[in-house]
Amino acid sequence: MLEFDVCIIGAGPAGIAAAIRAWDFGQQVCIIEKGPLGGASVHNGALSSKTLWELSRDYINAGRQDRGYIAENVEIDFPHVVNCVHRAINEKVSQISSQFAALSQPRPGCPNCISLVRGNARFLDSKTLCVDGNESSRALKISAKNFIIATGSRPRTLDEIIVDGSFIMTSDHMMDLMSFPRSMVILGAGVAGCEFATIFANFGQTKVYLIDRADRILPFEDEDISRICSTNLEAKGVTIHHRAKLLSMQVVDDQVEYTIEHHTGGKETIQVERALISVGRVPNVFGLGLDKAGVLVDEQGRITSDNTQTSVPHIYAIGDVSADKALVSIGEIQGRYAIERIYANADSVLSYENLSTIMFLDPEVAAIGLNEQQAQDNRIPYRVSVYGYSLVNRAIAMRATDGFVKLLVTNDEDMRILGMRVLGVHASTSIEAVSLMMKHDRSVCDLAELLHPHPAVTEGVQECARMLLGTSIYKPQVFQSDLRLSQVTYSD
Ligand SMILES: Cc1cc2nc3c(=O)[nH]c(=O)nc-3n(C[C@H](O)[C@H](O)[C@H](O)COP(=O)(O)OP(=O)(O)OC[C@H]3O[C@@H](n4cnc5c(N)ncnc54)[C@H](O)[C@@H]3O)c2cc1C
Repeated sequence: MLEFDVCIIGAGPAGIAAAIRAWDFGQQVCIIEKGPLGGASVHNGALSSKTLWELSRDYINAGRQDRGYIAENVEIDFPHVVNCVHRAINEKVSQISSQFAALSQPRPGCPNCISLVRGNARFLDSKTLCVDGNESSRALKISAKNFIIATGSRPRTLDEIIVDGSFIMTSDHMMDLMSFPRSMVILGAGVAGCEFATIFANFGQTKVYLIDRADRILPFEDEDISRICSTNLEAKGVTIHHRAKLLSMQVVDDQVEYTIEHHTGGKETIQVERALISVGRVPNVFGLGLDKAGVLVDEQGRITSDNTQTSVPHIYAIGDVSADKALVSIGEIQGRYAIERIYANADSVLSYENLSTIMFLDPEVAAIGLNEQQAQDNRIPYRVSVYGYSLVNRAIAMRATDGFVKLLVTNDEDMRILGMRVLGVHASTSIEAVSLMMKHDRSVCDLAELLHPHPAVTEGVQECARMLLGTSIYKPQVFQSDLRLSQVTYSD
């Protein structure tokens, strides 16, 4: 039996963050991984899909005809693209491996270090794990004072659709494609579905169909954002089946045949080469022996936890396996928090109020805090300013003026920042300063005073703030279609 201070199951971003933080505290740490290091985040999620997205953006820019050069015969094939994605993945895996190798050595004055154990872990009881499938033929037994479950999630599938990984796939199978499909249907117009639609449409080799059962894609975002994203996808040739219900999908003669029912009641059957099922994720709890450990799960199979602590006080759950949002930043922050809670008695409560996110569409969309829809649903009075990218010099220089910055503040003298949306190139770089200001409950005046480098897209954020104060350089009265300033109140 091997004994540790803390044992972590899963070496994705959440587990790795927890392991390294425990090492900071001088603990004897064990991290168990049954697959490649880095988890879904590196191999089938954030890093791999964002590398694909970046490559698809480069490709579409290379083909543009409005830049003073014409690139002819830009050759592209999927195996070369996948090769490049694998290089990105391998770089990250090698960084993680070298860090674990270095931190597995005892430090002067501190014999404790990190042990990486390969294999599939399951609880025998609340204090003991069994690890099968490691290099030695015998199962290992591991005990620890604290456990952290960081086993992540996997794509959700539907009972009525057989995912064979070849014709009908999930995001886990995208890197296994041998060539660009000539046509593909994506079921699910959430963030991941829209990102893959953008990627394949950018590469221009695949006719993409997107099945959206709602009135509009990205229904959780404001209508203006959803409309631009939708229009841009359609301009790239994507067919969006809005308000459509999937009736059936199966492989027929090496083609995927699917039938949808339109909101009018009309039925349509379409054949495509491949299908991607993108309907959410489910937590990896199966086979973990949670019942033996006494860890409770909710109806959806997610581990119930209170600020990362499960129903068993010395067992914590972090990252996608827990009930919170499935994002790398959330997993990492939870991993660090759980360890600080154990070893530094952290008493603060985890808050995701000012969580910033990016959607990798074309262009990208960055978000923090409230949007107009959420403010109105909660009947929060607000002032809003919208500043078009067409007036931002950096966007003009990049020949990429599609987009806007939208800033929401309280409808009072203080004008505290409630939220921001940026749709446009480099949108994600605009969000950081606002995130910090929201964390410190700062007013729009502070934002208006920042000195920005020029030209930078962040100047659009500054002008948005100035518009709310009536001091912007470009005036909404003059640029009525690019600038908007208004306030929303309620009668009761
Ligand atoms: C297509 C796609 C795109 C995404 N894009 C983004 C993005 O742009 N930004 C973002 O923030 N997030 C993104 N995500 C989400 C992000 O990838 C996840 O939130 C993140 O990977 C979760 O980290 P984790 O450590 O909880 O789990 P994972 O990364 O899934 O890691 C869990 C690890 O645990 C291991 N494991 C499981 N069970 C056991 C066991 N019994 N024993 C031993 N090991 C085990 C697994 O092998 C795996 O390595 C994306 C996800 C997908 C699918």
